[in-house]
Amino acid sequence: MSDAAIFIGVFGGLFVLRIIAATVFFFALLPQGDRCLNCDAPTLRVQRAFWHRWVPWFRPSWCMECGWKGLLRSGPITPVSTTPSLPTPGSLTKKR
Ligand SMILES: [Zn+2]
Repeated sequence: MSDAAIFIGVFGGLFVLRIIAATVFFFALLPQGDRCLNCDAPTLRVQRAFWHRWVPWFRPSWCMECGWKGLLRSGPITPVSTTPSLPTPGSLTKKR
């Protein structure tokens, strides 16, 4: 094996290993779940074809409270109440 092939193999391998290590490191930094990074409110999942198809463990998110958008890791979802909040009896009377 020539010296050039060894050089390309070693430094090419180190280059690929560096990309893999950085990807794993930054993936571990992303918070897991659906909470906003700024205001801790539950975020909505935004469907993007690329992220959903190629990296389904990422969760493109958008916060309705503060407008933050970004990636989170897929994780536990905050349960949302589906029962509508009924008005209290005193709130429907006309105020004079
Ligand atoms: Zn937010």
